[in-house]
Amino acid sequence: MYERQTETARQKNRRRAVRRQRRLLFGILIVILLTVILIFSCCGRGAQAPQTTPQQTVPGSIAEGTTARQAEPLPEGWEYRASEDLSLQDGTLVLVNADHCFDPALPETVSVYDNMTGSYLVKDIYLSLTEEAMAALNRWMDAFAAQSGRRDVNIVAGWRSFEDQQAIYDNAVATKGQAHADAYIALPGCSEHHTGLALDLDTYDLASGTSGGFDGDGAYTWAVEHAWEYGFVQRYPPEKSAITGISYESWHFRYVGLPHSYIMSTEDLCLEEYIELLRQHPFTGEHLKASCQGAEYEIYFCPQDALVVPSGRPYTVSGNNVDGYVVTVHH
Ligand SMILES: [Zn+2]
Repeated sequence: MYERQTETARQKNRRRAVRRQRRLLFGILIVILLTVILIFSCCGRGAQAPQTTPQQTVPGSIAEGTTARQAEPLPEGWEYRASEDLSLQDGTLVLVNADHCFDPALPETVSVYDNMTGSYLVKDIYLSLTEEAMAALNRWMDAFAAQSGRRDVNIVAGWRSFEDQQAIYDNAVATKGQAHADAYIALPGCSEHHTGLALDLDTYDLASGTSGGFDGDGAYTWAVEHAWEYGFVQRYPPEKSAITGISYESWHFRYVGLPHSYIMSTEDLCLEEYIELLRQHPFTGEHLKASCQGAEYEIYFCPQDALVVPSGRPYTVSGNNVDGYVVTVHH
């Protein structure tokens, strides 16, 4: 009797336990279902593409599909330009340093070996630069050779891939130590050489087959002092290393183009400082003016969502690889 009662009690307990389990399972299922519904509804909202219409630039008017900032009317002679075909990584004023990396796959470059004049040497047939930097290098080195009679400047570095820079960095760490690598070698992805706008100079004596380095002294002083006339700047001057993050490199030159090389040289600004200066000259404020080599220029900065350009006057646009565009108007 006692056993049967116990057996009945056990069966009741088991049934209760089964019911509890079922209720628990049902509850869990409901929670899972609600979570799934919630996730899908959130993802759906996040994945929705913003409704935009292609921007069209109509002189003197506000383009369709404008951003909030572009709703502001412009003075006569200026227009908004759609920036879909532009990138912050396009142009000669891209700032590349430890804080602002650059995609090495972006620039289109041409072979230095195939395009060089006879005024200088090149390390190998693989070296390349952007077409604009290449043409400027020819003009610069032709002028230097004509002035000095020397044709022994050797171009030893131009555009570099991510893997090239990685190999250089690893080699510097292995052979000269981490401190040297950190002082002189940019991290892969953050090297100016990824832009195709930077180059390294050396000297090479064909008779003895020896490299002499490029310290910019003696006969080569002219090449350094006149680099700006051809759009180049010495990118890592000794007194700017705290700002650039790179120790003095007498051999590393960067093409920024005129009139920027002129302003940077005369005002003694490294690229970090120049980009900051340009940001203080927005379209809506006072534009930077420059006059060099018989040409007049007007320069200003535009945020990414409100690129303003002159109507019917020549200009160039460059991304700064940070937060906007620099417009250079040619008068
Ligand atoms: Zn370099």
